Amino acid sequence: MTDIIQLLPDHVANQIAAGEVVQRPASVVKELVENAIDAGSGNIQVVIKDAGKTLIQVVDDGKGMSLTDARMCFERHATSKIKAAEDLFSLQTKGFRGEALASIAAIAHVELKTKPEDDEVGTQIKVEGSKVANQDVCVCPKGTSVSVKNLFYNIPARRNFLKSDAVETRHIIDEFQRVALAHPQIAFSLFHNGSELFQLPETNHRQRITNIFGGKTNEKLVPVTEETEIVEISGFVGKPEFAKKSRGEQFFFVNNRFIKSPYLNHAVVAAFEGLLKDKSYPSYFLFLKVDPKSIDINIHPTKTEIKFDDEHALYAILRSAIKHSLGQFNVAPVLDFDRDANLDTPYDYKNRSAEVPQVEVDRNFNPFQEENARTHKTGSNSFSSNFKKERGESWESLYAGLQTEDVPKPDSDFREIEFESEEVTGNLFQPSQDTEEKSTFQLHKKYIVSTLKSGILVIDQHRAHTRILYEEMLKNITVSAAVSQQLLFPLNLQFNTHEIEILKQLKDSLEQTGFVFSEVKSDSVEIVGIPTLISESEVEILLEQLIADFENDVPDNGFSQTDLLAKSLAKGMAVKSGTLLNNTEQQHIVNRLFACKEPGLSPSNRSVFVTLTVDELDKKFM
Ligand code: ADP
Ligand code: MG
Repeated sequence: MTDIIQLLPDHVANQIAAGEVVQRPASVVKELVENAIDAGSGNIQVVIKDAGKTLIQVVDDGKGMSLTDARMCFERHATSKIKAAEDLFSLQTKGFRGEALASIAAIAHVELKTKPEDDEVGTQIKVEGSKVANQDVCVCPKGTSVSVKNLFYNIPARRNFLKSDAVETRHIIDEFQRVALAHPQIAFSLFHNGSELFQLPETNHRQRITNIFGGKTNEKLVPVTEETEIVEISGFVGKPEFAKKSRGEQFFFVNNRFIKSPYLNHAVVAAFEGLLKDKSYPSYFLFLKVDPKSIDINIHPTKTEIKFDDEHALYAILRSAIKHSLGQFNVAPVLDFDRDANLDTPYDYKNRSAEVPQVEVDRNFNPFQEENARTHKTGSNSFSSNFKKERGESWESLYAGLQTEDVPKPDSDFREIEFESEEVTGNLFQPSQDTEEKSTFQLHKKYIVSTLKSGILVIDQHRAHTRILYEEMLKNITVSAAVSQQLLFPLNLQFNTHEIEILKQLKDSLEQTGFVFSEVKSDSVEIVGIPTLISESEVEILLEQLIADFENDVPDNGFSQTDLLAKSLAKGMAVKSGTLLNNTEQQHIVNRLFACKEPGLSPSNRSVFVTLTVDELDKKFM
């Protein structure tokens, strides 16, 4: 048999390796910026065109490269950062594999200009598909500039696989923010299609966070510091009341490298225990310093996971450091054994205003009337009260949360059922007029129960309302028929650059639902009109939720974008489970639900209602 094994030519090997290092334009930004940091730069400028698909340029003022190094740097496994395997355990640089430039040069047109400080002239090299196309002397300032053009020009499949410009830009912003957060002592700027997205001067950690996430961030930060044998922690956590609807602002850095760690994230969340509202995520910017020997540094270049020697200890230290900070800055109750836990107010109650208790008198009460005569007067409802009395207590749990204002109740009955205050309404003893027509009631402030000819219908109030609003919203967006309510005073809301990018994209669709933006700046928006269906106080939270929904993946085409927008707004605006609805509101929901195109399913494809027919009931009693 003839020999068939041969070495792959370098450019093929490089292209294969590139697949791992360069997944998208953002990977190139990360690699180039990390090289600039490793070169000891004080100022790094990133310029992007068309989300990096046309151009990514990183200019630094670092130590530059000699002519020989400039040629060498594009070779695979060419690095100045390690010489021997032992160096891996005392690594102080971001890169060490010597793969990035070789990989990038294999799949793009790269132009390098570089000059060490003491040299008179610099070197200019053009590389296309791993081949040096041109080399020259050039006049340039100290430092290095790398331009990467036409990424994936020779791998059409990869190029087609890229997402929309909006998505790719967001990935770039993410990478940029991560390195910028880790290195506040370096000035950074980012330009996209000629406009400036970030201009970050040299500063400290706190100021860098504020410069990236907007002016108001500063007052939301609580410092965290801890020094132990195994880890040094510094950084900030966001005050619990500013917790976000999305995980957007959660950052761990280990030895100045951004990492993701669900385990450490858990430690942070555990420290916030009891301080966060449901489904909100604390912001954090935490910098951990550990001995390079104690982590597995030989991680994949594009991965952000990391392995620690002593994860459990790290968890405990992190959690207690944050707890301590939250306590010290008076955002969490400190441990106090004399404190009476009964005096703590649950979240729900905090925003409620005190209600003046009302004294109700049953003016029809006649002590001389026979007991059964009185029950008779209340008509059909007397059935339930008598029934309950006869059957004893076990039945009563079934009735908790029912609207019971029409039911006259003997005292004993009353005490056994726990009512929430709103339910004990003024007309507890007065049968309301519409008793007879009433065809719906609310169960557990969550379901609307209605009778059908053939049985009963149980509707999930939140899902039903979501369906109604969703269809309405879709209609408004497509035919632009939404009405808007003018605000008396314009509403000014702060957002970070990243969030503004998303809002800009959604602005047109949002305006079709009734929002009117008078101004969209780089860190805030001004709103002068909102949809009639929402109140001013809900706007911020709705938009936050909307951004969170779009954060993970912006749909590429207009149709699914509209759909996601309608879903997100509808979900945010719909009545929640736990909201008490009066009879008119209940009927309104039922009627509008059945006027919908698809009443049976919520926009996220969950059942909106269930029915129970008389037949089915009959079977249960057999
Ligand atoms: P690594 O960073 O893993 O060493 P790279 O392929 O990213 O590998 O870079 C190869 C080498 O090129 C680096 O080790 C460094 O010596 C040199 N280099 C790359 N970018 C720069 C830069 N911006 N300034 C100075 N030297 C650079
Ligand atoms: Mg590198």
